[in-house]
Amino acid sequence: MQKEKFTIVGGGLAGSLLGVFLGQKGYKVDLFERRSDMRKDNVDGHRSINLALSNRGIKALERVGLAETILKDAIPMHGRMMHDKEGKLAYQPYGLEGQYINSVSRAGLNLRLLELADEHPNVDLHFEHKCLDANLYEAKTTFKKDDGEIVNHESDFLVGTDGAYSAVRDAFRTSGRVDYSQSYLKHGYKELEIPATADGDFAMDKNALHIWPRGHFMMIALPNPNKTFTCTLFMPFEGEDSFDLLKTAEQAQSFMMEHFADAVPLMPTMLEDFMHNPVGALVTVKTYPWFRGKSILLGDSAHAIVPFYGQGMNACFEDCTILDDMMNAYLPNWDTVFDEYQKERKPNDDAIADLAIQNFIEMRDSVGNPEFLRKKHIEHELNRLYPTDFDGQYELVTFSHTPYKQAWDQGAKNDALLKHIMDNNLDKNLEDKELMLSLIKKYV
Ligand code: FAD
Repeated sequence: MQKEKFTIVGGGLAGSLLGVFLGQKGYKVDLFERRSDMRKDNVDGHRSINLALSNRGIKALERVGLAETILKDAIPMHGRMMHDKEGKLAYQPYGLEGQYINSVSRAGLNLRLLELADEHPNVDLHFEHKCLDANLYEAKTTFKKDDGEIVNHESDFLVGTDGAYSAVRDAFRTSGRVDYSQSYLKHGYKELEIPATADGDFAMDKNALHIWPRGHFMMIALPNPNKTFTCTLFMPFEGEDSFDLLKTAEQAQSFMMEHFADAVPLMPTMLEDFMHNPVGALVTVKTYPWFRGKSILLGDSAHAIVPFYGQGMNACFEDCTILDDMMNAYLPNWDTVFDEYQKERKPNDDAIADLAIQNFIEMRDSVGNPEFLRKKHIEHELNRLYPTDFDGQYELVTFSHTPYKQAWDQGAKNDALLKHIMDNNLDKNLEDKELMLSLIKKYV
């Protein structure tokens, strides 16, 4: 029997991984990407240069046999390194011994996924094809090539993996009875760079995610294999301490020196980067359904989230794992596969969207605050001392495969426990096993 044919619109992280999944299963895949072929043109995706890859993303890469290759070039980040205004450092480990997140190159990962998809004779990649329109019920798509030619394509199923501003999602929206919301943070982001030192080493601890929390704005930095750091400055577009007020090199220099005095000397091209690099917007998109006719949405097209939990790509990759699970469970009934996929993922991707906003507020306002550090310390200690009885929310989200919604619910329970410990000054009693286990039992 002839296997089904898939059209994938969007060859970013989710689309190229899905192309590999479907290609390995022997389906005919035509993947259409608006951009030129990054394997030839060295395109960097115009967005964050590196990303934090954690357990959910790794699981999907393991399924297609790519985890080892990607992790070989990744840089482990074992904790957060906070920089205060005076340049004093405070370190908080993530998770337990041996648990860490990985800094990986966005372009390198995308490239490797495209190469792997292309190794399958049943997968065809079409670059410089911009999707203009889609018929969800007939899985028909129309593309405009860079040279202006219009191409119509037809298959058995259509998957929209064309990101936060998805054209396929537009076809869902105009097909009627679709829930949709889109909300922008008042903050945007700009990327800056800390190069390697003169003697070719990292300028800061390479095994940490560096954070400069400053109230309503902040900067973070992730290491790259070439010994540079990519810094991302998150700040309001307008108003007090905003990008709007930093129009000239002098304004940028004095602002950066005032707030990030320990980082500026490490950034010789800071002004050039600041004046040249764009300010990106941060959007949360929620929509439903994700399955209509013969078409589904997957990845950011279904659930774009803000980047503050480092989970956007991980969630997209987990979408692929879950779709794969549903195929294994329900084929040949494709309607059930797609319906179960959307039912399973929607509440969980909603939860990670909300967690990402929550983490934004936490990182921005609280990471440098002593009470927050105390809370994080207690949480970490409980996790370390009673690993089978207590899980921190960050650990559940980042280092486990517990559904995101369950991690969200667990966080609320954990907060009640932590509040009790802090209100009653029980910090010194964390090793009192009997007391702690009874409190954990009561609250969690
Ligand atoms: P995309 O990566 O956006 O890919 C969509 C693709 O579709 C693109 O190649 C695009 O060119 C193509 N396309 C778009 N429109 C069309 C069209 N009409 N026709 C054809 N092709 C089209 N996630 C993490 O897990 N960890 C992190 O540390 C992290 N950091 C981030 C930092 C920042 C600043 C940002 C903005 C995001 C971050 N993310 C992170 C989130 C992550 O980047 C996204 O979740 C992920 O890229 C989504 O993958 P996707 O394939 O769904 O969409």
